[in-house]
Amino acid sequence: MKLIGLTGGIGSGKSTVASLCCERGWRVVDADGIARDVVKPGKPALSELVAAFGEEILLADGSLNRKELARRAFADKEHTELLNSITHPRIQEETQRQFATARGDGCDFAVYDMPLLVDNGLDKDMDYVIVVDVDPEERVRRLVAFRGIEEEDARRRIAAQVPDEVRLAAATHVIDNNGTLDQLRVRTTEVLDRIEAESPKV
Ligand code: ADP
Repeated sequence: MKLIGLTGGIGSGKSTVASLCCERGWRVVDADGIARDVVKPGKPALSELVAAFGEEILLADGSLNRKELARRAFADKEHTELLNSITHPRIQEETQRQFATARGDGCDFAVYDMPLLVDNGLDKDMDYVIVVDVDPEERVRRLVAFRGIEEEDARRRIAAQVPDEVRLAAATHVIDNNGTLDQLRVRTTEVLDRIEAESPKV
């Protein structure tokens, strides 16, 4: 099974590319989805977070108040490390479980949809790295127009990620998404076809 890292800055169009991979029958492992799932009510990580950071990180319905957790966990390095020591092992375990399931199901391709793939140095573990590339100003525009994010917040989030040139340097395949959604579909299909052609079945 080939492992394909799919990444790009926030607002670059990764989710759109991930759904095209799904349509093709490739297995998609969604890093953001896993990070959300491991802290759902009833999961051990949520109880551990409450023990570490207090009941105030819960909303009235018992689910995680992400804003309050962020306020407490990102206050200093020690608290950030405490947060990571609780969530990271669970995230890793679930990610590996999903890859193992894909292997067990006989998948030829598994896509790891991971915004921080390069930031976290995980690109080294992949057979291919697809980077979806869009001019940062256009990403700001799309985040504001289509995702309801405030302009200042969009800029802050982009600035917190690895610079585009570093991400691009890790790419085996780049998909330019500065054009229309139709162009994105065509370019994605070309790249996925190429990867399939480069990976003959054994
Ligand atoms: P990411 O998952 O990388 O953060 P998304 O796939 O959610 O980004 O894309 C961000 C927003 O921009 C979405 O609302 C998406 O529909 C829109 N979008 C993506 N590509 C294009 C495009 N080529 N033209 C116009 N809008 C786009």
